[in-house]
Amino acid sequence: MRGNNRKQVVFLVLACVIFAIGAGILILNSLRNTDEKTFDGQAAYANVAAQMAFGPRLPGSQAQTALLVWAAEQLEKSGWDVVIQNGSQEGHGLRNLIARKGIGKNLILLTAHYDSRLVADRDPDYPAVIAPVPGANDGASGVAVLLELARVLDIPTDCTVWIVLFDIEDNGRLEGWNWILGSTYFVQHLDGIPQAVINLDMVGDKDLVILPETNSTRWLREDIWKLADEMGYAEVFTSEGEKSILDDHTPFLLAGIPAVDIIDIEYPYYHTRADGLEQVSAESMAIVGRVIERWLEDY
Ligand SMILES: [Zn+2]
Repeated sequence: MRGNNRKQVVFLVLACVIFAIGAGILILNSLRNTDEKTFDGQAAYANVAAQMAFGPRLPGSQAQTALLVWAAEQLEKSGWDVVIQNGSQEGHGLRNLIARKGIGKNLILLTAHYDSRLVADRDPDYPAVIAPVPGANDGASGVAVLLELARVLDIPTDCTVWIVLFDIEDNGRLEGWNWILGSTYFVQHLDGIPQAVINLDMVGDKDLVILPETNSTRWLREDIWKLADEMGYAEVFTSEGEKSILDDHTPFLLAGIPAVDIIDIEYPYYHTRADGLEQVSAESMAIVGRVIERWLEDY
């Protein structure tokens, strides 16, 4: 009997040790998985390079079609439901991409324009040279950050997130065109009331400085700037100076929906032929991506 009891104790101890080791491995794995799913600036940079390889994403172009197919594939791989919204605004056909994930009651929208501008009319050689904007920062960077966020975001249970890529943001002041056509159409046909809309535009340049954009909803802007400050990014999300701009957040604001525009308004290669891949940095996109990731996961 005694021998049997001892055997039982030894067996129990062994079982406990094995269980503890197993649990430890599980916990370590889950920690490692969480770490793996942090925003990766290099992946965002690769997303810019992929878009640049399509060529300028001018409204209605094959390059745009290629981008939409590629972006939909990326998003679906990350578990998002994707639809293309076809419409027309001010006589221009347009395609917005809408990706949805989550089942919570709070609707959050992350948005960016994916088109690039038809004419580089701020180029030093304009109008002697009439060429499209390559759109590495102005177009590709916002999309790149959103696709990387789509890969890494853990969506809170009480949230639903939509990632929306807008067509025809960037042709204002060109004959027969206007700004923000895709987002205007989107808001006119919006089904649901977002709690917050975060728009990204020109968020990838090496010398990234994001001034407070004063048309943006104040509480939302201050919330994000405060978090960026806590994360040590006060030099990028600066509080010194402010600007206002018409961008894809504007139609939401006009509809009474809280929205913020995160944009490097003073990007020196804005609407020039020099807005190429060489202007963009993985580190800049990582800063913006990690702030949005943290803001959303803590929502
Ligand atoms: Zn632009």
